[in-house]
Amino acid sequence: MRVPKFVLKAAQYAAGVDADGLWGPKTLAALRQYDMEHDEIKIAMGDKDKLIVSVAQHAAGMPKRKIDGIYGPATEKAVKDYVAEQGLDEDKAGARARARAKTQSGSGARSRATAVSKGKARTASGWATWQPHEGPDIYEIDDIDLRDGTIITPKRGMDEIPTRRIMKQVYGDALALGESGIKKRLVSLRDLPGRFNKGEGKLYGVHKLAAPHLRLALQLCEQFGVIDEIYRIGTFNYRHMRHDKSRPLSYHSYGIALDMNPRENFAWSPKPNQRKVNPFTKAWQKKYPRGLSEVVVLCFKKVGYAWGGDWPSFRDPMHFELVARRR
Ligand SMILES: [Zn+2]
Repeated sequence: MRVPKFVLKAAQYAAGVDADGLWGPKTLAALRQYDMEHDEIKIAMGDKDKLIVSVAQHAAGMPKRKIDGIYGPATEKAVKDYVAEQGLDEDKAGARARARAKTQSGSGARSRATAVSKGKARTASGWATWQPHEGPDIYEIDDIDLRDGTIITPKRGMDEIPTRRIMKQVYGDALALGESGIKKRLVSLRDLPGRFNKGEGKLYGVHKLAAPHLRLALQLCEQFGVIDEIYRIGTFNYRHMRHDKSRPLSYHSYGIALDMNPRENFAWSPKPNQRKVNPFTKAWQKKYPRGLSEVVVLCFKKVGYAWGGDWPSFRDPMHFELVARRR
């Protein structure tokens, strides 16, 4: 299947990136994010064409049962209408001038980040924007040294973080329990520091055993002055790894993983000659100019989280999980 350019543009527009009709890592990250946020879309992670088409179908307001990632006449019509409504079929300069005029007139102004498709409010990162933290990085406050490699156990937290081998015994087997079964083990957290998501200080869908660890991690981020870097956190999501049914369930299905600021911390698989792009080197900062700071990452590691940015063959710097790597 070849996806026409206007379909890609529609998907990009819906996902809040430049609708330039060009495929790249930013578009991939944004479309995956859109996919994660909309349960109607169910596609295998590796299928780029299906991902593009599904997002465009969803954005165009097609009914849930028709969102299949397959480009056909109904999709063509719906997406063409959407593209026309959003003014995406004009040449770029014209579209930009129009967008500017709209913004200046004030009425009906709609930035790309808050685009609304067919009355459905977009839930992407329009809630807040990325903020750099001010001041130099601090790694040590009182008796807490973020770099000493020790883990702090929160009150009512787990003394030891379970390894992969025993995590199902500790957290429950999400596959055997099913989505409704594992949901019984999840809690909502309230009164959290930070302005992420809607700024309500709440997170829904956190495994009850992970909850004290997550709360303490955010408290540390506040204490170390980096809490406002975090504008978006996604937690529970019952799905297979990389959206691939042949893979095991993702740790998001257990409520023990979270994705932070996904758009700025996209996942990628480095080729062998790119393995030198290690976290927080110059090359890393070039790749992730708005990536999470080392202090945020260390605050989460400090309470036992493993970080996806540390995985050399599949870097996933948005991802944290409460599973110990070795032992
Ligand atoms: Zn994740």
